[in-house]
Amino acid sequence: MEQIKRIRIIKKALFTFILATGLMFVFEFSKQSVFPLITIWDSHIITIFFVSILSSILSYYIYLSFAYKKLYRKELSIRKKHEKELIYINKNQEKTIAKRTGALLEVNNQLQQAKIEAEESNKLKSVFLQNISHEIRTPLNAIMGFSQLIKQDKIERNKIETYSNIIIDRGNDLLELVDEILMASRLEVGKMPVTIETFSLHTFLLDIKNVFENLQIRFKKDDLEFVFQFVCSEDTLITTDKTKLQFIFSNLISNAFKFTNKGRIEIGCNRITDDQFVFYVSDTGIGIDENMYNQIFDKFTQVDNSMSNTIGGFGLGLSIVKGFVELLNGTITVRSIKGEGSVFTFTIPNKHTLVQ
Ligand code: ADP
Repeated sequence: MEQIKRIRIIKKALFTFILATGLMFVFEFSKQSVFPLITIWDSHIITIFFVSILSSILSYYIYLSFAYKKLYRKELSIRKKHEKELIYINKNQEKTIAKRTGALLEVNNQLQQAKIEAEESNKLKSVFLQNISHEIRTPLNAIMGFSQLIKQDKIERNKIETYSNIIIDRGNDLLELVDEILMASRLEVGKMPVTIETFSLHTFLLDIKNVFENLQIRFKKDDLEFVFQFVCSEDTLITTDKTKLQFIFSNLISNAFKFTNKGRIEIGCNRITDDQFVFYVSDTGIGIDENMYNQIFDKFTQVDNSMSNTIGGFGLGLSIVKGFVELLNGTITVRSIKGEGSVFTFTIPNKHTLVQ
């Protein structure tokens, strides 16, 4: 704006200068003919008058031109400053928009993931309900059927005992199922209490050994060898939740028992550091596909194979085992070769410290 004004002033100055010079020349050449009476001194005075008017007009324009030049520079620097500020604001806005877009994308991804998980969980729950009604119905039918048989008048004494044993066993299966469901739901809501006590690890493992040797005899798995490898002395103590450690072992050993028909099941314990124990349960059973290593620890997940399908189970055991190991501040992993066997390894600190 100021630049345009300045150009106009320069134009005006030039125009005035040319006009005044023209008028002066016209006057100089025509003064004798137009004003014959004018003296030489008068003509000089008039010329000086013209020149002084001309120079004052010119100086005024020159002054204006410089003033506008200064204004123009000032305006230019203000404009540059504004432009810089605008670029800065734009850049900041671009950054904020990029950040917000990233955050929105993240939220969107999380929502998608949550949706997939919710659908998956719904599917698993439906499968679970189907399984559970089957698992509840089977022992219940047996209990009802054999209870009816016992009620008959002419029933032999030995049959009563056999039927009663069946009723007790199926009742225990039902209890186990209800217990597992309760444990899984307590773990899920973080309401599983931990009861810490100090006990002899050696005696604890010997008790487990006895229970499973009796099971082997009861289920007549004669082709199975049980091996116990404890690298701990009789006075080795552990401070942890005994009932949970018992559940972890029973579950891993029952699985090894379920999925192994011949060969060996080995249970071992070692001290890896001063304050950590490592335990393992290995078998020479059917094995697990590598892509199922993580999934078998999820709730209601069973490997789709003929053995899992016929043996039964609800796919809750390993998820509870993992939950318990983590509750005792440990970790659990599985390694397996399909058709050759599996090894479940878990670590537990020798002294449980409460995590806040
Ligand atoms: P379930 O009550 O069905 O056995 P788990 O959670 O204990 O549930 O086990 C989940 C699945 O993991 C089992 O159905 C089985 O397919 C697989 N599995 C667990 N332990 C073993 C094992 N020792 N050998 C082979 N497969 C196993």
